[in-house]
Amino acid sequence: MSKAPKTAIQPTRSENYPEWYQQVIKASDLAETSPVRGCMVIKPWGYRLWENMQRALDDMFKATGHQNAYFPLLIPMSFLEKEAEHVEGFAKECAVVTHHRLEPDPAGGLRPAGKLDEPLIIRPTSETIIGATYAKWVQSYRDLPILINQWANVFRWEMRTRMFLRTAEFLWQEGHTVHATADEAIEETQRMVDVYKDFAENWMAMPVVVGSKTPHERFPGAVETLSIEAMMQDHKALQAGTSHFLGQNFAKAQDISFQAENGDREFAWTTSWGVSTRLIGALIMTHSDDDGFVLPPRLAPAQIVILPIYRDDEQRAEVLAYVESLKTELASQTYAGAPVRVEIDDRDVRGGEKKWHHVKRGVPIRLEVGPKDMANDSVFFARRDQPKAVGIERATLVSTIGDILAEMQQALFDAALKMQKDNSRVITSEADFRAFFKSDDEDAIDGGFAYCHFASEDEVEPLLKELKVTIRCVPRDGNTVPGTCFLTGKPAEKQAIFAKAY
Ligand code: AMP
Repeated sequence: MSKAPKTAIQPTRSENYPEWYQQVIKASDLAETSPVRGCMVIKPWGYRLWENMQRALDDMFKATGHQNAYFPLLIPMSFLEKEAEHVEGFAKECAVVTHHRLEPDPAGGLRPAGKLDEPLIIRPTSETIIGATYAKWVQSYRDLPILINQWANVFRWEMRTRMFLRTAEFLWQEGHTVHATADEAIEETQRMVDVYKDFAENWMAMPVVVGSKTPHERFPGAVETLSIEAMMQDHKALQAGTSHFLGQNFAKAQDISFQAENGDREFAWTTSWGVSTRLIGALIMTHSDDDGFVLPPRLAPAQIVILPIYRDDEQRAEVLAYVESLKTELASQTYAGAPVRVEIDDRDVRGGEKKWHHVKRGVPIRLEVGPKDMANDSVFFARRDQPKAVGIERATLVSTIGDILAEMQQALFDAALKMQKDNSRVITSEADFRAFFKSDDEDAIDGGFAYCHFASEDEVEPLLKELKVTIRCVPRDGNTVPGTCFLTGKPAEKQAIFAKAY
């Protein structure tokens, strides 16, 4: 006799983490694959989550002085050629539009026709097209700063894709700012990476490390790239957001210049920063368990689902009236400054199936209410991150729901932080480094964040290639005391985080 599976998701995380991830996405109804390789369909539950993320981030961008605008999807190829490093970085992933119509093919079907004089690129990122516009907008120091964000889709023809974490087309926001001085632009770069840290930690309940990228890992064309790095449950790092100080590189390539107060003509200083639908993948990999998705309350499309339980039509009417009033009472409470989001699931679906539907989708709180509970003025209460369901008095539930959601949000953050700390080590020798990243199996759960002093990125690169490890960042709040390189023993100024990464 075969054993019944004990978990809603098969395989479990420890059995096969990458496959578990795909199965969670499927079971939670977030997204599915599409006929176009590397592109996904984001389903309503996933899109509602993205909308909540967008709303929170958008408010933060506006609170830091930014406005939204929109720029074209297609970029003339010549624009990309202007910044040498930038074009080199993105050329391999560009989708190129070469024709402007279709015509009947004599051999059958359709064929492209009307060749364009200049090919157009589907934006992989918009520095070049936005910069060309800014060159027109910026004339005098009075026109600065420009603080603009765009919500858009971008396209990078990635070879190895994984839903949400790395797709060919993805949704994101890209901030693009122009400043009169280097100091102002650097300050902006730091401000925005801190906005990302705030969002990751206080909305996603995902602890992150802020740091700067090493030259090999920088955004093509940037002088400095700051990032937030998170540790996933398989101990791999995920770059969850980036903020680039572009110096005058793009301004010079695109002639974004202005007349300074003293009358001199000067090149401007620019920044760009972005986060994407990758953050949904980050949420899954940070909090979910072997029964499916676990949503942090602050971002959950529904924070509470109520399942009415009844046997016949007569009971149905009574129970529905009761849960409607419960819903109204709960929704009049607030959590984190917003009304509590409550839904009733009265679909004609078997009780067990309905329960598991919401468990797998990660709804933070599940309430079950039947005639017996009604008689006691109590409800059956389950918190997604706790194993046991309990009875709770209705009045108590209503008056404490804000605290319950806040506690769950905090508990998810604490668990993720513990996981990150438990799997971070200072490593000072090659032997220890090899032992830490021992497995050749890319999908194995081992390693974590290795904090190592290193002397030269070039010298450590062969070892990193061999072990499929990368330098994630030089942490901003890291160890600044010089040490010796873990590999060569040479004096080393900096300590960086080394990790396997998505
Ligand atoms: P970048 O413009 O390369 O700095 O990317 C900005 C942010 O977009 C990164 O920090 C990632 O979080 C995200 N990102 C980059 N490439 C992808 C991709 N292929 N799929 C989803 N998100 C991505």
